Amino acid sequence: MNRDLFAAAAVPRLPFIERDLLFPVHRIYCVGRNFAEHAREMGAPLERGTPTIFMKPADAVHLDAALPYPPGTRDLHHEVEMVVALGRDADGPLAAGEGLALVCGHGVGLDLTRRDLQAIAKDKRLPWDVAKGFDASAPVSALRHVDDGRPSPDTLLWLEVNGERRQLARLEDMIFGVDEILVHLSRLFRLRAGDLVFMGTPAGVAALQPGDRYRAVLEGIAQLEGRVLG
Ligand code: MN
Repeated sequence: MNRDLFAAAAVPRLPFIERDLLFPVHRIYCVGRNFAEHAREMGAPLERGTPTIFMKPADAVHLDAALPYPPGTRDLHHEVEMVVALGRDADGPLAAGEGLALVCGHGVGLDLTRRDLQAIAKDKRLPWDVAKGFDASAPVSALRHVDDGRPSPDTLLWLEVNGERRQLARLEDMIFGVDEILVHLSRLFRLRAGDLVFMGTPAGVAALQPGDRYRAVLEGIAQLEGRVLG
């Protein structure tokens, strides 16, 4: 019987709010350009089309309120996003309306972005991985279990940096809703319990600097506070 050469890396686990439960993370899917005003500020075309999807490694999840400033960038951007957590596997491709039954919880997170490297990647038609999938690029709050409350279309999503409101939107402003995104993903990937989906960011993305304090809120559901290390 062969042995592992070394101990496998631990799976990141998110706590649930007011429950003795943990959420072991399997994959992180992200939706790009899911708010029209943000697509406009990024200079992206506004036709609805198909969702823009990219991924981060599962261990990009960051749970500590102290956020390291990543290497390799001079333009680290915040993107506040609702995070949807899947508690069940999909059997295969989902039909419309079947996605929400997979969801076990919601949180709020930051899709941190090396905007300077993303601009280069877009310009050269290269992949976004170095811009999006770096270590600690996915700070996420504790999750609210769906049995304890779930967001509604008029739920507000916002981000404050140093006490100043930077981003704000209602979930109904999302171009693609959660069910639509899960149906779309299920036709491309095998959705599993443990998958997280970052649902896209409103307008107002901007740089985070060392020393900045941030507070991300999904109203009535979850919040995430932290500070960027120098
Ligand atoms: Mn994003």
